[in-house]
Amino acid sequence: MDRFDYINGKLFAEDVPVAKIAKEVGTPVYIYSKATFLAHLTKMQEAYAELDTTICYSIKACSNINILKFLAEAGSGFDIVSGGELYRAKQAGADMSKVVYAGTGKTDSEILEALEAKIGYFNIESEAELENIIKLAKKSGNKTKAALRVNPDVDPKTHRHTTTGKKESKFGVDIERARKVFAKYGNNDAVELNAIHLHLGSAGKTVDPYVEAIKKTLVLIEQLRSDSFKIDTLDLGGGYGADYETATAPTAGHYAKDIVPLLKGKGLKLILEPGASIAANGAILVTKVLYLKKGGEKKFVIVDAGMNDLLRPPLYGAFHFIWPADVEEAFVPEKRKKELSMEGTEVVDIVGPICEGADFMAQGRSLAPVKRGELLAIFTAGAYGYTMSSNYNSRPQLPEILVDGDKFTIIRKRQTYEDLIALEK
Ligand SMILES: *Cc1c(COP(=O)(O)O)cnc(C)c1O
Repeated sequence: MDRFDYINGKLFAEDVPVAKIAKEVGTPVYIYSKATFLAHLTKMQEAYAELDTTICYSIKACSNINILKFLAEAGSGFDIVSGGELYRAKQAGADMSKVVYAGTGKTDSEILEALEAKIGYFNIESEAELENIIKLAKKSGNKTKAALRVNPDVDPKTHRHTTTGKKESKFGVDIERARKVFAKYGNNDAVELNAIHLHLGSAGKTVDPYVEAIKKTLVLIEQLRSDSFKIDTLDLGGGYGADYETATAPTAGHYAKDIVPLLKGKGLKLILEPGASIAANGAILVTKVLYLKKGGEKKFVIVDAGMNDLLRPPLYGAFHFIWPADVEEAFVPEKRKKELSMEGTEVVDIVGPICEGADFMAQGRSLAPVKRGELLAIFTAGAYGYTMSSNYNSRPQLPEILVDGDKFTIIRKRQTYEDLIALEK
């Protein structure tokens, strides 16, 4: 399903050799596979087909307008977290009724823009925010719907920076407070509060936290219904595992197998907000080996991509499989996995050119032998890769390439030095 494969020792993105793209566009470069994105979306749509389900792809994972366009065409809605993402959704031709808006710090102008655009739902993060949205909805004459984001106090057992559904989180309101919030605001005539939103965190590796959270939430929904509130929608958020390490994340089918039976016959529409599970395996970051070097006992492979291009390894301690784009047949990896014991590999640190000790892509990693000038592919780079990149160290941001079958298109140009100072007056 993930269309980055070795053929005779050469890595292909769908039907295009990765080396060919690198030669024409230069390195480092993000290379996306359209078929891979669509395959993950379809898989999720199919897994939940038994319920009345809307998939709202989380734009912040990977937000290039060309990618949003083909996802919208394939029936995806969108999860947004800012006015900028609302703008992208509109430009992508999204069905606005399938746009949901989360985020703890929505400003008045962002709220007004979203009201004007007639988005499907605001996901409410606090009572003060709900009060403000009610005020602005009344003032602008645009009614809307809202889901109260509750914290089920469930631990998704992921990195502390990607945990959002625990009590001590800045997101949502404690599940025990939800009834009070509905009692106070549930009957206003500008914002229809008819849904519950959850988002446990990102990069989960098991289904259990979702099951636990849904069970707690169904109890709440029963209580709210007995308080005579009409709750007809449950938004389960995102955070479904993406397969960073082969076969360590549950598939969409695994999640659905446990989740669907809990929600069948409950009179609830389901919204899902996957980001990483759609985008992560849809791209690789291709980088060039600049230098090889020894420091004490350590061997370093210095590449031309840095933490400004891919922040996940230093920020989350994230694992990305990294392997040369062209290798001898003996070194073609059977699987992309953390511990790859192959004869002839060497344990190295793969590091970038940024002036920071945290600038690494991998540490203590087995790698096939490489030389200066060779290409390395950093796999599973589609989610929170380009979107978290920056100009740190005054490095121009990378180009994004979309492969579709045997064609590839530059969907974002490499920044130039002029771009770096263009807004500095
Ligand atoms: C980031 C985010 C998502 C997507 O999370 P993934 O881990 O990429 O699936 C979904 N919903 C909300 C509210 C988010 O903040």
